[in-house]
Amino acid sequence: MAIEPLRDTKAGLLRAPDIGRTVRVAGWIARRRDHGGVIFIDVRDASGIVQVVLNPETAPASDDVLHGLRSEYCVAVEGTVESRPAGTANPDLPTGEVDLVASSLTVLSAADPLPFQITDRVDVDEAKRLEYRYLDLRRDKMANNLRARSRTVQAMRRVLDADDFLEVETPTLIASTPEGARDMLVPSRMRQGHFYALPQSPQLFKQMLMVAGVERYYQIARCYRDEDLRADRQLEFTQLDLEGSFWGQEDVLATLESVVCEVVKDVRGLELSRPFARLTYAESMDRYGTDKPDTRFAMEIADLSTVFDGTGFKAFAGVLASGGTIRGINAGALGLARSGLDAQVDRAVELGARGLVWMVVQEDGSLRSPVAKFLSDDEIGDIKRTLEAAVDDVLFIVADSPKVVGKVLGSLRLDHGQPEGHEDLNFLFVVDFPVFEETDDGGFVAAHHPFTSPHSVAEMRDDPSNALSNAYDMVLNGVELGSGSVRIHDPVVQQQVFEVLGISEEEADQRFGWFIRALRFGTPPHAGFAIGVDRLVSILQNEPNIREVIPFPKTQTGADPLTGSPAIVDDTQLEELGLLIAPAVRASWDTNTENGL
Ligand code: ASP
Repeated sequence: MAIEPLRDTKAGLLRAPDIGRTVRVAGWIARRRDHGGVIFIDVRDASGIVQVVLNPETAPASDDVLHGLRSEYCVAVEGTVESRPAGTANPDLPTGEVDLVASSLTVLSAADPLPFQITDRVDVDEAKRLEYRYLDLRRDKMANNLRARSRTVQAMRRVLDADDFLEVETPTLIASTPEGARDMLVPSRMRQGHFYALPQSPQLFKQMLMVAGVERYYQIARCYRDEDLRADRQLEFTQLDLEGSFWGQEDVLATLESVVCEVVKDVRGLELSRPFARLTYAESMDRYGTDKPDTRFAMEIADLSTVFDGTGFKAFAGVLASGGTIRGINAGALGLARSGLDAQVDRAVELGARGLVWMVVQEDGSLRSPVAKFLSDDEIGDIKRTLEAAVDDVLFIVADSPKVVGKVLGSLRLDHGQPEGHEDLNFLFVVDFPVFEETDDGGFVAAHHPFTSPHSVAEMRDDPSNALSNAYDMVLNGVELGSGSVRIHDPVVQQQVFEVLGISEEEADQRFGWFIRALRFGTPPHAGFAIGVDRLVSILQNEPNIREVIPFPKTQTGADPLTGSPAIVDDTQLEELGLLIAPAVRASWDTNTENGL
């Protein structure tokens, strides 16, 4: 006897031309309504929803079954596709012109009462959603996010495969790589007291693949960084990681543009114009106060230092005399009352400024501001001209060190100008980053990572604070989507960078000796990049949080409410690893239920 398939048709694909067909569909009960004897159920499968009509008089399923049907039962239905009665078509539903009139219904699997309704319209506590993620993922929005993510990765692979890239997997149990974050560690059983680190990125492996002659590498790589979680940060995240030999910056940026254009075309149906805009790091900091500017709106930071050259306003004169700067933005007609304007001052102080000057342009052209009386007419005229101020515009001015001024005005700019969501997409590259960042104790850390090549080695050794590197970032709507650089391929230069970083030859040898040795075997010049897949998909899907596009993410506290990780393990497991839990930590387990088994 031939075995009948459970279904021969996808529920969401039924249309008017199918009328008259006998079909089998299978899926979940999205909704049921009893209409005096006749029962309507919406059956949902991955393709969409169809309305099924169950008439107990004609459908052979028992009354008990029909009346016992509940939301999210998994069912199979056989029936005939019929036109909906006149006036009952639903134009909002792709299958809205037809009904599936059932001749039989089988319950494949019942569902317990639901912890929340499976609809996009219900606001559910996120911890609950994560605890029942398999139900949460049945919602349209989440299912769409998963599909967009899959399409994103496929589009990436399409472009890179066509360009002769080799997809190579690198290990996830490795020795620590210095990407600047805290490592996630995994204890070794076979070498007790030793630990693997999970990769913060495949950085050194992809460079090694260049030494190995791979020439063009990519990987959809899982990376791990033990950092505090935020809306755009998880303990584990996914990167499109790539690297090319005999490459310089332009090769990398052109490849990134091709990849991103293909993804956006596929997921958003949009053709982006190329080449993407470019800003140097210095320009970006100057004009937007950040290295990841949102250029969907202007509100640029303007330099007002020359306006106040020789000013009688003591506070400003003092800042200029001590080497500071005075800058401002025109935040537009915000319509804020006095209390709202004063709240901006509090915000600026929170951000690290000593204060903030606000000014509102009045009908007669004068400025309403607590400091107006200290300013000359010329100064007022120059401020208005420089900030292109019109009546009712609110101007914010900060006088401080360039770093503080940039941070405060950059943040206020976002507070008052950044569009909600991600309707428009504004990709750009920021290039010419510094090689190093100065630490509070006068030392240096790598601004990108220590394998990034400087513009000039001599400059780097003479003046590390101002040396520029061949590092670049891709930014989308004010979010850093990824970073990369032209690498150091000369072991001597690599050693010199370690020196500036205060890593002694001995330490470098101990930590990266294997890597420096590899560089001595005919290393081709190479360059690469990594794009954050979670961030890219979340923006394309207009989601405020990368958790929405990660199937099984962690909460802000790094926990997974579904599986209960991280969890306490058996003492025997600890013994095998040669590990002891500190008594104080053990004692805390009794009181800290989050850690409890
Ligand atoms: N490994 C770097 C990162 O994860 C990217 C790169 O330089 O290719 O940020």
